[in-house]
Order: sequence, then C-alpha cells, then structure tokens
Amino acid sequence: MKRILVTGGAGFIGSNFIKICLDDGIEILNFDLLTYAGNLNNLKLSNECENYYFVKGDICDSDVFSKYLNEFNPDSIVHFAAESHVDRSIDKPDNFIKTNVNGTYTILNETLKYYKRSKNFKFIHVSTDEVFGSLDKSGSFDENSPYNPNSPYSASKASSDFLVRAWNKTYSFPGIITNCSNNYGPYQFPEKLIPLVIINCMDNQKIPIYGNGENIRDWIYVEDHCNALKFILENGKIGEKYNIGSNEERTNIEIVTLICEIMDMEYPSKKVSSYKELINFVEDRPSHDFRYAVNSTKIREELGWNENYDLKTGLVKTVKWYLENIEWINDIRLNKYNLERLGKVK
Ligand code: NAD
Repeated sequence: MKRILVTGGAGFIGSNFIKICLDDGIEILNFDLLTYAGNLNNLKLSNECENYYFVKGDICDSDVFSKYLNEFNPDSIVHFAAESHVDRSIDKPDNFIKTNVNGTYTILNETLKYYKRSKNFKFIHVSTDEVFGSLDKSGSFDENSPYNPNSPYSASKASSDFLVRAWNKTYSFPGIITNCSNNYGPYQFPEKLIPLVIINCMDNQKIPIYGNGENIRDWIYVEDHCNALKFILENGKIGEKYNIGSNEERTNIEIVTLICEIMDMEYPSKKVSSYKELINFVEDRPSHDFRYAVNSTKIREELGWNENYDLKTGLVKTVKWYLENIEWINDIRLNKYNLERLGKVK
C-alpha cells in the first residue's frame, strides 16, 4: 500500500485530496495545525477508515514534523499546508511568512534528511498561479513564466516555490512544484468567493464584489486539481514544474451571476425575485491582480491529465453540496473559527 504524508489536509483542497486517496486504498497521515481554516468536519467519514491517521502539528516545528515523518515512513509528501487567503495576508502578513516560507523551509530540511534513506520518494509542493502576478487581456502563464507576485500571500508562496527549486538544484531534493488556478468545490471555507456567494444567497445577504467585478480568474473544480496531483505523483518528473488549470476564465461578475442563476433554480428566494439583486460592488482590494490564466498544456501532453468537469457542471455540483450540508456551514457560523474576515472575497 502506498503511504502519503499530507500537510494541511484538514483544509479545503487537502481534505478533498485525502478522500480521493483513501478511496484508492492509499494510507494517509494528515499533518495539520488546525488553524481557523483547518476543519476536521471535512474529514468526518475518513476518521472511520483504517488507512487514515491524523496528527495536529505545525510544519514550523522541526522536531514534531521529523518524528511523525520517520514514524509514518511515507513514499511521498504532498504539501498543502499554508495560509491561503489574500485579504488576510494584506491585513497581517506575519503568519504567511511564518508558515508558507519558514514552514516550507523546515519541512524541506527534515524531508531531505529522511529522503536520503528512501528511494523513489516525491515531494509535491502545491502552489498557485498567483506567483506569476497579473496578466493583461491576452496571454497565459506557462511553466516558464516569470514570477511577479503582488500580494503578501503570493510573495510568500513564490518564496516557498523558490526554496523547493533551490533544494532540488542544490541537494537533488526530489521536489516537484505545481501551480494551479483558483479552485472551487465542496468544503471550501466561506471567506472565498464561490462559497461566500452561495451562503450569502441562502441568507438573502448582500453579495460583495470588489471594484467593478471585471477581474478575471481561471476556475478549476477541486476534484480535477486533486486528480492532477495524483497524475503527478504517479508519473511527474522530479525537479519539474506543472501548471494546472481547466481553461475556464470568467470575470468575477460572470461567476457571481452564474451562481445566482443556479441558486434561483435550486433554492428560490422568498425575499428577492433573483439573487442577482443582492450583488453589491465594494471598494477594490489594494494591488488587485487583474487577470490570471493558466496554460496547462504540459501536464496534459506529458502526463495525459484532463479535467472531468466544465465550470457549469462543477458549479451546480458545488451549489448542491452547500445546500445539502447546512450542518457543516452552521458549525462554521457557530464561530468555532475566526471569522473576522468573512464577507470579503478572494
Ligand atoms: P486552506 O486555507 O483551506 O487550508 C490550509 C490548511 O493548512 C488548513 O487545514 C490549515 O489548518 C493548515 N495549516 C496552516 N498553517 C499550518 C501550519 N503551520 N502547520 C500545519 N498545517 C497548517 O487552503 P487550500 O485552499 O486548501 O489551499 C491548499 C494549498 O493549495 C495552499 O498551499 C494554497 O496556496 C494552494 N492553492 C490553493 C488554491 C485555491 O484556489 N484554494 C489554488 C492554488 C493553490
């Protein structure tokens, strides 16, 4: 049986990834600090799986990380753990530098010692397209695009990418870097745009959109991202970078309008004739990147990965998931988590 140590597996993408791996019979150790974004409710059923283990731990703590790394003895590490919300990084960058930069540095060092004893080992560093900065109306980011991060979040992720690259070049560390576009799907914390819109519709609350809503993002359904990571675990080449995206560029206003239309069908409001009436433009975020677009030709041609979901299908699935999982939402609403930023969008 394969054994994967997952950092940050109680978050949005990590928990979706773990569920797919458990279904495939892979043994998983989830190493997560359980910050406000870590939610064990994301993995309720997984607790019953014999092949699932959880440790509450900080990737900045080399002793604890090294202890569990050596005890669990994994074939691979998939590194999701990070502070991930741009607005929070603008308000308070400290934790972004600590976890995303120092934390990645810490686990690279510990993993390098461990790796020297293990063959065929891979360390997948899960990063973002935001490291490349902002595009104008044309073009897209490929694996050779220059890094131009514009927020404390993207700068911290860019730094961590460079550390993984340097460890590979200098110490032959078995790292692979992935840069993925904006994810959406089940279990996404409701400070991010898509769940925020769904939940505000459910509550008949205003839907905040930054600036004029014309900023463009390239969306991918979380399951497609997780499958891409599995393709990379199987056949990805050490030292390489892979961009992941599903060619679904939309302006923020287009995405919000589409969600409102799906909500009008699935959960009609008793207060407004269409949820679109709730849309409310708010002051733009500082240094707000205009456009992201990912060229994922490399992973498609070299590894044979393709997405399974187009945007409309993925959004309908996502809306239905939130409507069917009110308990999960209510648990977050009960303020078990730090929600002071709720109401802002990614
Ligand atoms: P998330 O915020 O939902 O989850 C992050 C997880 O990391 C949480 O469970 C949290 O408890 C854990 N964590 C934070 N600090 C930790 C620490 N010091 N030690 C151990 N665990 C810690 O994030 P997400 O949206 O699931 O993103 C996961 C990764 O994917 C991140 O590295 C992010 O940069 C990257 N990424 C995200 C997106 C996206 O659209 N969400 C797109 C591309 C790449």
